Amino acid sequence: MPEVCSTDLPGARPLDLARAHLKHHFGYPEFRPAQKKVITAVLAGRDALAVLPTGAGKSVCFQIPALMLPGLTVVVSPLIALMQDQVVSARSKGLPAAFINSTLSAPQQAQVLEQVRTGAVRLLYVAPERLPRLGRELADLDVRPGLLAIDEAHCISEWGHDFRPMYRTLRRSRAQLGWPQALALTGSATPEVRDDIALVLGLGRSRPKPVFRYVDSFDRPNLRFEVVPIGDSRARLEQLTRLVRSIEGPGIVYAPTRNLTEAIARVLHNDGTRAVPYHAGLTKERRSATLDRFLANDVRVVAATCAFGMGIDKPDVRFVIHWTLPATPEAYYQEAGRAGRDGQPSRCIILFHPTDPMLHRRMLETTFPEEATVELAWRNPAALRRLPPSVQLSVERLRAELRPDRGKVRWDRVQARRAGALRRIQAVVRYATTRRCRRRVMLEWFGEQPVRCSGCDLC
Ligand code: ADP
Ligand code: ZN
Repeated sequence: MPEVCSTDLPGARPLDLARAHLKHHFGYPEFRPAQKKVITAVLAGRDALAVLPTGAGKSVCFQIPALMLPGLTVVVSPLIALMQDQVVSARSKGLPAAFINSTLSAPQQAQVLEQVRTGAVRLLYVAPERLPRLGRELADLDVRPGLLAIDEAHCISEWGHDFRPMYRTLRRSRAQLGWPQALALTGSATPEVRDDIALVLGLGRSRPKPVFRYVDSFDRPNLRFEVVPIGDSRARLEQLTRLVRSIEGPGIVYAPTRNLTEAIARVLHNDGTRAVPYHAGLTKERRSATLDRFLANDVRVVAATCAFGMGIDKPDVRFVIHWTLPATPEAYYQEAGRAGRDGQPSRCIILFHPTDPMLHRRMLETTFPEEATVELAWRNPAALRRLPPSVQLSVERLRAELRPDRGKVRWDRVQARRAGALRRIQAVVRYATTRRCRRRVMLEWFGEQPVRCSGCDLC
């Protein structure tokens, strides 16, 4: 099939041309409604913020414009581990994509830059850490990016559930790149995080047209939300086994630790369910074999830590059970949302004991120790050594971030982050203990008023 070039179709409307690219590279006849709106705005030269749930097809929103807009498209993505997969998948569709990061040798990086210079690469993926240097390199080559796409844009916000300090430097990088048009994409953001993204990236700044914001509905009508109260941990196991036995089809059980996933898989296995564990402590081969077996329905249940997520594109997952209360609504909705991608009825269940939130509150104390403790440990190595290892790590992380050696420390940012983390714990507790509708509690967290609930254990 011949390559579709913008010059082939004189007078065609931008969206028609975009559709031709979609058909050619992806084989899909039509954009989804959200994609259509976002791409139209991007092609019209507007800065945009798109909040689309996982699986909505975010990549298409910048991959297609990258083929049509003049200049290079730079894609910022926080996950180096994913970048290679994303690029391999894009290239397999014939998209002129490459990535540049620390996993490439210096000569390999030089080669990528050369392809950027000649225009052979028009879609360049990069981690935020690498962006300042890339800015200088592109300036040397006289390449001016036309579009800056920021994936997982919620990482920008200290209010968000996945803050990455490097994302804060994106505004400076954007300026360094010559202030290109920007498209921020995220699969989860509360209203305040959305505003923060727009502010930090300077969306709409020095552009003639206003920022385009698109927030897709997060409601997944085919998912049924349930919370099962349990007594002690023995009861948890019995409940789980009973549930897994009673539901047909493939499912995922999320548990917080590696040991637990092993134990759960063993118990389910002994109960006659083909179940295997999945966590980051297993070899890469073992993990990918497990994923393959799950996709092929050779195992029915995967008992997994949060490490099981990337690349699960299994449409017919019939249930996602959480062994205990998840840490944040964002994490929960993303993990639970792996159920029912095919639109068929599926169940999302949390096993909940009233003491579950304590684990998260303790984690919070570890991640954000008291200011006085931290400042003492900064000054006094002996005091540092007396702290538990996990707290010592936090002290060092905060030292690297707040740089007490440079004078007065800005605690306000850390305080804001801590307050945000606490609010998220409170939100999952509210979800688990509400007497109203669970869907409503969850969607309200994302700033949405659901019209009606299509199924939860309270409605
Ligand atoms: P996200 O990043 O939002 O989670 P992806 O970009 O990974 O989503 O896309 C999710 C799936 O939807 C992919 O398999 C992708 O090929 C598919 N997809 C994207 N756009 C369309 C479309 N217009 N029609 C049908 N399928 C699509
Ligand atoms: Zn409900």
